[in-house]
Amino acid sequence: MRMVIVRRICQGFFLALFLWFCVAATVGAQWWQLRGWPIDWFLAADPLTALTTILSTGRLAPGLYWAVATVVLTAFLGRFFCGFVCPMGTLNQITGWAGGQGRTRQERVAANARHRLQGFKHVALVFFLACAALGSVQAGLLDPLPLLHRSMNLAVLPLADARTLALSDEPRLYDSAWLLGGVLLAILGLNLLRPRFFCRFLCPLGALFALLSRFTPWRIAKREAGKCGDCRLCEERCEGACGPSGEIVHGECVLCLNCLEACPSGRMGFAPEPSASGERHLPAISRRGVLTAAAAGAVAAPLWGVGALAGPARDASLLRPPGALDEERFLARCIRCGQCMRVCPSNIVQPALLQAGVQGLWTPALNFRMGRSGCQPNCIACGNACPTAAVRPLTLDEKHGTGDFADKGPVRLGTAFVDRTRCLPWAMDRPCIVCQEVCPVSPKAIHTRVVFEPVRDGRLPAARLAGDVLDLSAAPPQGLNLAGGDHAVRPAARPEAQPRRILGQSGGRLTLEKPGRGPGAWQELAPGERVEIVVRLQRPHVDPSRCIGCGMCEHDCPVSGLRAIRVTSENESRSRAGKMTV
Ligand code: SF4
Ligand code: SF4
Repeated sequence: MRMVIVRRICQGFFLALFLWFCVAATVGAQWWQLRGWPIDWFLAADPLTALTTILSTGRLAPGLYWAVATVVLTAFLGRFFCGFVCPMGTLNQITGWAGGQGRTRQERVAANARHRLQGFKHVALVFFLACAALGSVQAGLLDPLPLLHRSMNLAVLPLADARTLALSDEPRLYDSAWLLGGVLLAILGLNLLRPRFFCRFLCPLGALFALLSRFTPWRIAKREAGKCGDCRLCEERCEGACGPSGEIVHGECVLCLNCLEACPSGRMGFAPEPSASGERHLPAISRRGVLTAAAAGAVAAPLWGVGALAGPARDASLLRPPGALDEERFLARCIRCGQCMRVCPSNIVQPALLQAGVQGLWTPALNFRMGRSGCQPNCIACGNACPTAAVRPLTLDEKHGTGDFADKGPVRLGTAFVDRTRCLPWAMDRPCIVCQEVCPVSPKAIHTRVVFEPVRDGRLPAARLAGDVLDLSAAPPQGLNLAGGDHAVRPAARPEAQPRRILGQSGGRLTLEKPGRGPGAWQELAPGERVEIVVRLQRPHVDPSRCIGCGMCEHDCPVSGLRAIRVTSENESRSRAGKMTV
């Protein structure tokens, strides 16, 4: 079979596999949902993810061992990953091919001519490596595998699923999905200018592959230079713009193998010998550009840290998924692939914009106002999906603080605080106990204190009290459901009297519950005595020693918009900086 056909079959297979892994990364009961599928395989095989996390943490995360195989194969075969495996490369190739359909032969040759700015990807690589060496992993912003995972997980699949709901039973929503989708569209659109624009000019992973294949024995080579008719058919179809008709730049060759097929006299080959028309291994990169990129990375990483995210000025609304490392170590590992965001069944793991600082762009942050619930007590999906252990895998025992972890207590994401200026029972004398009802902790972390507050315009003269039926001689306040079970009556001049609940209302006639016993019980009124209608309120209080910050209360609080109970990062397990000391 022709090698180009083999390459196309491989590209189709790996693109389909990539999309399948994205689809499979949802929690659910179906056979195709997160049932042992190796959904992180592409990220695990990514040498740039491996290298940057080694630089920032000093070790290779166990989930990334496949990257070693990629490195070894690249050292022998060159950029096979770009030509045969990379799903982003395949998408770029397809759109570049479509964009070139209306062009003449000369225009296609010109579009595939080598450009001096192709060295920019090496500058980007140096910048990202310098950042990583100083503890800030930013390569995921441009590394095609995290970038494509992020775009598919957070923009494309939710868009595809929004109407069909084939992949989830409720629409998935993500902050800044429009931006993520726009970035992907822009990357694909650039292929209309030049085929594989991203691969040629921007891809830091491609630049790393170029370095790794520096001494590859097998490479594209021209056999007999003098006999070449200079038809440039090879350059018309060259995906890497590596100049196969003349001096080949091997670092740019993405092993599309089109030149092998295009050459009418079969002079191009893939062989362990130098090209007869000359070769270079890396593009001409200016030393000044590389030094500038290294210096920029060396300055940028500490500058980002000056925001003192872990210090007292940290943004308290920044919550990370359960199992996340402390902020410094987290940013040294997170590649922003969005896997944790995709798997979360509650849809609460969202891409941060700036709440984690510039260096935390698109890292996972919890948002309990979105999604369908708080963090599920019996879910540990996000830690198990994270390829770099920035969110480390937990067991349910560790999450709950049971079994071997009983001494440590449960994993806390933060602590809930009641905003008394917005809470219905505190601010508006309206009964509500939603937050206490949904709190999943046992005993509940939210407890309530009962108070009776007089309602507005609720002091009214009584006509008579006969048994449990009270007739008022003035109309009770409008707009209140007095018979709803939350309202009661007591003699206005006796605030220490036990309120008697109103069980029914018909105009100015109220049916009261039986009088209680003990001090304050009452069953008679003096003629013309005024009564006071009061409302029974259960005002919520949070017990910080029990609150795990799961966000159920914040999610379900009926005060939409800015919730009346909100979780902030105080007391989160992952960091000492947020501990409340009183
Ligand atoms: S553990 Fe919580 S945050 Fe993580 S995936 Fe499950 S529900 Fe979402
Ligand atoms: S924390 Fe989330 S976004 Fe970051 S590397 Fe892990 S799975 Fe990817």
